Amino acid sequence: MSDCLFCKIRDGQIPAQITHRDDHVIAFKDIGPKAPLHELVIPTRHIASLTDVTLADTDLLGRLMVVASQRAKHSGQAGNGFRIVMNAGPDAGQSVHHIHLHVLAGRPLAWPPG
Ligand code: AMP
Ligand code: ZN
Repeated sequence: MSDCLFCKIRDGQIPAQITHRDDHVIAFKDIGPKAPLHELVIPTRHIASLTDVTLADTDLLGRLMVVASQRAKHSGQAGNGFRIVMNAGPDAGQSVHHIHLHVLAGRPLAWPPG
């Protein structure tokens, strides 16, 4: 999608610190980290919201979760635990409309989130 920030990161039109890239999934460092480890994991294909996925996306969603877990593990910052979050819609604070998992670690993470 031409006006999507994360599609532009995918296409190299906006710089990002990419930490993983394969045919289906990209991970990169969040520009405003909320924890010592804060990366975003996105599908290469533009999907605006979690409300837009169907069962046909099951494999892709699984891949996002596996890459997120691997990023936590390989960061060396998640030995005491980590959190994977996807915000959907305004009440959850979704600000970029290309689905993404947040991977957070490196400090105690309060529960419930705000
Ligand atoms: P959300 O509020 O769940 O939609 O999360 C969007 C995330 O994207 C926020 O944590 C932002 O800090 C992050 N973000 C926004 N612009 C960029 C960018 N250019 N590069 C990396 N992360 C970004
Ligand atoms: Zn997009």
